[in-house]
Amino acid sequence: MSTTEFDAIVLGAGAAGLMCAAVAGQRGRRVLLLDHADQVGKKILISGGGRCNFTNVNTAPDRFISANPHFAKSALARYTPADFIALVDRYGIAYHEKTLGQLFCDGSAKQIVAILLEEAANGGVDVRTGQPVRDVTHADAKFTVRFGDASFSAPALVIATGGPSIPQMGATGFAYDLARQFGLKVVEPRPALVPLTLGGDDVLFRELSGIAAPVEARAGKTAFREAALFTHRGLSGPAILQASSYWRHGEPVTIDFLPDAPKDWLLEAKRSRPRTTLRAALGAMLPDRLAETLAERLALPGELAAQTDRKLADAESRLARWDFCPNGTEGFAKAEVTVGGISTASLSSQTMVAKTVPNLYAVGEAVDVTGWLGGYNFQWAWASGHAAGQVI
Ligand SMILES: Cc1cc2nc3c(=O)[nH]c(=O)nc-3n(C[C@H](O)[C@H](O)[C@H](O)COP(=O)(O)OP(=O)(O)OC[C@H]3O[C@@H](n4cnc5c(N)ncnc54)[C@H](O)[C@@H]3O)c2cc1C
Repeated sequence: MSTTEFDAIVLGAGAAGLMCAAVAGQRGRRVLLLDHADQVGKKILISGGGRCNFTNVNTAPDRFISANPHFAKSALARYTPADFIALVDRYGIAYHEKTLGQLFCDGSAKQIVAILLEEAANGGVDVRTGQPVRDVTHADAKFTVRFGDASFSAPALVIATGGPSIPQMGATGFAYDLARQFGLKVVEPRPALVPLTLGGDDVLFRELSGIAAPVEARAGKTAFREAALFTHRGLSGPAILQASSYWRHGEPVTIDFLPDAPKDWLLEAKRSRPRTTLRAALGAMLPDRLAETLAERLALPGELAAQTDRKLADAESRLARWDFCPNGTEGFAKAEVTVGGISTASLSSQTMVAKTVPNLYAVGEAVDVTGWLGGYNFQWAWASGHAAGQVI
């Protein structure tokens, strides 16, 4: 079998791989971009409900989870949301800010894939899809990739095959296998931005399926003020998805059901409306069935006037710190991203090159850097892909 030579091979034509290949190609490198899927950028196409939340103007390193919270800083500082927005503007793509700094296409996520493909074409990138990567070997300072029946080699190889979330889209843990093959460490991958499942005593809350409320959800030390949604399996909605990235098995997720309520609001309600009930007081601030379930759980029947201040203060603090003990998550099948991945300790934060294997790079979600919900994960894909694309 003859082997075709390139300057660099990028494995994975998703967000990070497309950016990396385009940047390197436009620097004059002969780049080959390979993907086993029949189409490039499949996750981009389904992202943001088909409108792709392509960045977040509030991007900052503290919105990323990693064993090394400093790792993402360099790449994020050198390719910013403004840089990607300038690219989108150059193509005349219309977009809008939905909420919390999240930028979405007005039209379709297809426009983002089209930009990246055109940028890759401008760099003369050779894009090939729809064949399995059979193996990757390294000898005489060259990486050789068997792709379907063809064989390619290059002195530089970029791992951009993402994480295993949504395997039905073609996502795999291939990046981790390849990293291990080359002696790089992998931080245990976990599903993130994922709904949580409830069992035990909490199972009753599943009856509230479909009900949403603005809450503050906390896992560990990190709290998010957004909507939570009860589902037939447990908890979802942006606040829960965000908290899920920080959640560990066996730990609670703590919900403040009334994050805007002033301190002592329940005692105040007793003074100003003594004849009202807890159920009615909650019903004025929360969806009806949620108010009913919470009031039942708090078990303070009758008028507020009949309750001691102590009991009302206890009820108020429970409503502000309601512990749910999820028995799991809905897994990689429903996870938007993966926490963990190729250890940042194995990589240079400047270039994304492996410290122990010359000219081997890893970018995007394959790396142990995971963003919050809201465009941060694409910003990391663009920034890390750009960092490697400038040096391969
Ligand atoms: C439903 C959904 C919605 C999302 N919405 C958003 C959003 O709006 N904003 C946001 O910032 N993030 C969003 N994300 C997260 C975002 O899509 C990812 O973080 C981002 O795509 C990661 O980019 P990547 O290039 O590292 O990986 P990917 O984009 O996943 O690309 C990896 C590529 O590698 C290929 N590949 C995998 N295994 C192999 C293999 N063995 N051989 C060859 N090729 C392989 C895949 O086919 C794929 O093309 C969403 C994710 C999902 C699942």
